Amino acid sequence: VPPHEQRMLKAHELLGKFYHHLLMNTNEGAGALDYVTSRGMAVESIRKFQIGYSLPEWDIAVKYLKQHGFSEGEMEQAGLIIKRENGEGYFDRFRNRLMFPLTDMKGNIVAFSARSLSEDDHPKYLNTPETPIFNKSSLLYNYYAARSEVRKQGFALLFEGFADVISADHAGVKNGTAVMGTSLTDKHIHLLRRLTDSVTICFDSDHAGIEAAYRAGLLLIQHGMETKVAMLPQGLDPDDYIQKYGAEKFRSDVVGNALAWTAFKLQYLRLDKNLQNEGERLKYIEEVMKELSTLGNPVERDLYTRQVAEEFSLSLEVLQDQLEKLVASQR
Ligand code: ATP
Ligand code: MN
Ligand code: MN
Ligand code: MN
Repeated sequence: VPPHEQRMLKAHELLGKFYHHLLMNTNEGAGALDYVTSRGMAVESIRKFQIGYSLPEWDIAVKYLKQHGFSEGEMEQAGLIIKRENGEGYFDRFRNRLMFPLTDMKGNIVAFSARSLSEDDHPKYLNTPETPIFNKSSLLYNYYAARSEVRKQGFALLFEGFADVISADHAGVKNGTAVMGTSLTDKHIHLLRRLTDSVTICFDSDHAGIEAAYRAGLLLIQHGMETKVAMLPQGLDPDDYIQKYGAEKFRSDVVGNALAWTAFKLQYLRLDKNLQNEGERLKYIEEVMKELSTLGNPVERDLYTRQVAEEFSLSLEVLQDQLEKLVASQR
């Protein structure tokens, strides 16, 4: 690691500790601490993930890091402070926010994601921009801490947000990581593949989350990963679910019942369709058969074909016949 990057890491380490201290031990941090605990976050989680609080003042980080020997140029390059428009001095990027340190694959803090504390303070999350030590398309939240657990359990859980990782961790599900509010990339998959060839996606159960799960799954499949999708009731994210139904139900009903990729895809294909309508029902069955015809495993093909026959009261022979035609047409 080049010396100037080494110093950026040091600045993050110091500031991370400072933000954490402000949250845990000061009057100024009491409101933010109320906010996190009212969300159901445990004190052990706040410690483990070193969650912190940045004060509302404009130049706390500037002053704090200056005291520790860092120049403004260094802090700016690290993404921690911003130059004023009029060119006179600098101000802190993160103010009056809940601070989540982001660690690289060696466990060093390389960036922060900062959540606003009120609904009318936008954006909801503010991230460190790209810097020499932080590239958000190659960072998975909690990757470092989850490594051994992913290896042990034989699969990684992939969440949308870090609130989900933290809740799951507290619920005893410690093999979770999250993309940083971006799409899953090849780089993320290469990181995961060092630990496992099996990933269970557990994204938010809203329109955006389901679409993102589908795209992430396609990419994982392309990379030859065993891919499952854990589904949640409509409108909830994993954090909401755990707060509402508890750890045990999350482990058994959500993670334990994760759908195989094909089963998810069959669910996905029916999302925008009204299957009461005959035309849409036919279209769905056609899409499903096309999908099944691409499966390499004949047992899997047979399993789902039987399911479709049963659900729609169709003749199995007719479906099998159709499937063979589709398979033949692809050769
Ligand atoms: P919370 O429970 O605090 O509302 P969340 O994790 O459920 O947070 P989502 O809206 O589901 O938040 O977003 C998932 C992830 O996407 C977040 O954890 C964050 O990393 C990222 N994200 C969301 N909104 C933004 C934003 N405005 N800017 C940057 N990243 C964002
Ligand atoms: Mn979401
Ligand atoms: Mn969410
Ligand atoms: Mn949430």
